[in-house]
Amino acid sequence: MMESLPTPGHAASGVAGESLAERWLVLPGGVFGAQGTLHRRVRVRELTGADEERLFDRGSLASGRRVSAFLACAIDAVEGHDGPIDEAFADGLQLGDRDYLLLRLRQLDLGDAVHQVMRCPACRQKVDVDFLISELPVRRLSEPQRAWALRLDAGPEPLEVLVRLPRGDDLAAIEALALSNPAAANTRLFARLVLDVEGRGAPTEDEVRGWPVARRAQLSAWLEAHAPGPDLFLDLDCPHCHADMSYVFDLQGFFLPSARGTSPASTRRST
Ligand SMILES: [Zn+2]
Repeated sequence: MMESLPTPGHAASGVAGESLAERWLVLPGGVFGAQGTLHRRVRVRELTGADEERLFDRGSLASGRRVSAFLACAIDAVEGHDGPIDEAFADGLQLGDRDYLLLRLRQLDLGDAVHQVMRCPACRQKVDVDFLISELPVRRLSEPQRAWALRLDAGPEPLEVLVRLPRGDDLAAIEALALSNPAAANTRLFARLVLDVEGRGAPTEDEVRGWPVARRAQLSAWLEAHAPGPDLFLDLDCPHCHADMSYVFDLQGFFLPSARGTSPASTRRST
């Protein structure tokens, strides 16, 4: 392989405490240990073919579980964390932190540049999409907390609730249901994430199912707006017909070799 100059992403990430060269990453959210200490610095090791196989072993596990198995092997060390780094640990990571680790592992081990060939849903022409992993914006929590106190005031009656952000184990719990019934998956998710309602403890799934849709939508919107992690939404228009071709970058799929193809036109992600 030819020697190449380091890409901008390899020089410095601009995040305090993070060193891509030494493979130390700083989680956008972080994970709380048993003593209440927040752990955010994580070292990842270089990926091998065995890791790729683990990530793509579609036959055996649902996607959330596969990512947990993969991250349990890829994470080398967690600063300040004494316990084992196993699948249970990876299950306990916030979804955005898991995405962030996948994203940086892709950048470190397969390069910063991503090339994809997409087909415009309107005019059916092929479109090259090129961007750098290091360009994707990452939302970082300035003061991570175990849970947040919220007032859900949409609907007829306001509720004071305590909410945490979703983790790998939440995804595993709703993944199959989300395919058949996304609203039922939300019910299950909210019942897991809401730790307290008006001092009465966590709600049951039945209680959350009975909530007005406006309140459920407000909680969904809050989670969307506050969860840390990379923003994988690629906002782009077709260069041929200007139709909207925006899509969400497939974090797990991108560990496969880029699709090859030639196309007369090229578009670039607008940031
Ligand atoms: Zn088009």
